Amino acid sequence: MGTVFDVVIRNGEVASGAGRAGPLRADVGIRDERIVSVAPGLEAGRLEIDASGKLVLPGAIDAHCHVAQKSSTGLMTADDFLTATGSAACGGTTTIIPFAAQHRGDSLREIVREYHRRAATAIVDYGFHLIVSDPNRRTLDEDLPELIREGCTSFKMFTTYDALKLADSQILDVLAVARQQNALVMVHAENSDAIAWMTRRLLDAGHTAPKFHADSRPASAEREAVHRMITLSEIVGARLMIVHVSSADAVEQIRWARGRGLPVYAETCPQYLFLTAADLDRPGFEGAKYVFSPPARDRSSQEALWTALADGTMDIFSSDHAPYRFNDPEGKAAHGTDAPFTKIPSGVPGLETCFPLLFSEGVAKGRLTLQRFVELSATQAARLYGLYPRKGVIAAGADADVAIWDPSVDVTITNDRLHHRMDYTPYEGIRVKGWPVVTISRGEVVWAEGQLRGRPGRGAFLKRLTARQSGRESPAPAVPQ
Ligand code: MN
Ligand code: MN
Repeated sequence: MGTVFDVVIRNGEVASGAGRAGPLRADVGIRDERIVSVAPGLEAGRLEIDASGKLVLPGAIDAHCHVAQKSSTGLMTADDFLTATGSAACGGTTTIIPFAAQHRGDSLREIVREYHRRAATAIVDYGFHLIVSDPNRRTLDEDLPELIREGCTSFKMFTTYDALKLADSQILDVLAVARQQNALVMVHAENSDAIAWMTRRLLDAGHTAPKFHADSRPASAEREAVHRMITLSEIVGARLMIVHVSSADAVEQIRWARGRGLPVYAETCPQYLFLTAADLDRPGFEGAKYVFSPPARDRSSQEALWTALADGTMDIFSSDHAPYRFNDPEGKAAHGTDAPFTKIPSGVPGLETCFPLLFSEGVAKGRLTLQRFVELSATQAARLYGLYPRKGVIAAGADADVAIWDPSVDVTITNDRLHHRMDYTPYEGIRVKGWPVVTISRGEVVWAEGQLRGRPGRGAFLKRLTARQSGRESPAPAVPQ
């Protein structure tokens, strides 16, 4: 009879994500990549990790990031699966769900096969959301149902960007497939025509600097598209996830939908809590570092989002990591450093800093309980995206994906301590309290003592469940169909 446990994490405060109880002093016993026991006084493991004075939390799930993905204008993200999953692990994240992106004319199934190849170097586990930009009969009737069966049970649509946006009738087609197949539709919601109109006026007036990016995409344009998407999903009877909610206006719409009993979910990201439109007005081309969409807003939207994170209006928190380097002809300066704001690649990096920022400003400053942090960082994403109870929870039977946080450590974020393939972080100089000191993926330590240890390729593809397989049915349509 050998040792019972491969790993025991001893004497930490465990916030498990399971049940309603607060943090509990317990040991976590791991065997064969899974958690097998959560209780005080476990017997010795082959590897003992002392977590006294530390928090033992489910590894985070970053359910919105762009990795080894070509933008609609043809630029490749700076991070591939090796650097993205490594960087994620160093920030306490043990699962990422990036996108397999269809561009018009692409076969969605071919695209997913290609992303499986790209993901061969992953250090932690991953799934794929799909991006649907060409909802022709083959995509709708054959490819989506097939890919949902293969475990890609969520897909994103766009109401903006010329190369990606769908008309309302196409959106209804995609929602109908999602309803029928019990998949979850995610949406990037901004009013495309309003943005195009504003952009033309700004450019005609010679307003080309990065700061005009925010003016071209007002919060009202987001609010309208959020409302429209809620309405379209209600007509069809489909569940809906509004991603990267940026404004108080959009939060209001989500509360309205919830008040009607609609299954509308919402996500926000660190850039909407820590940055404002004023960051776009930095000297020279610096503002380009803060070009992302929807744009950062103002202090009052930041406050509204904090309230929404605390009160449950927001379900999940993700990075929307979309890395384009600053000093790189394939990055922010692809069209030169005096390019108009419309030509600056949109996106900021954030995989590694995502949850430390939320922890510090949320938990350490008393805006969020530790349980709420666990829900936002792991448990809710696992539930909504078909990974529960394999991921997102510290309980017997779950994968042994654990982040051990030191809540007392002070860290000043600088780009040179991060592990992404980026030459900047938008959070340079921000001081945070708390950081994961050990990250464990399926029982293996992948980050400890300031060292990334995971072997490239050890990360596994996660076949995710549909809502029905997770015990949730699609809602009834609002009109007979
Ligand atoms: Mn988006
Ligand atoms: Mn995105």
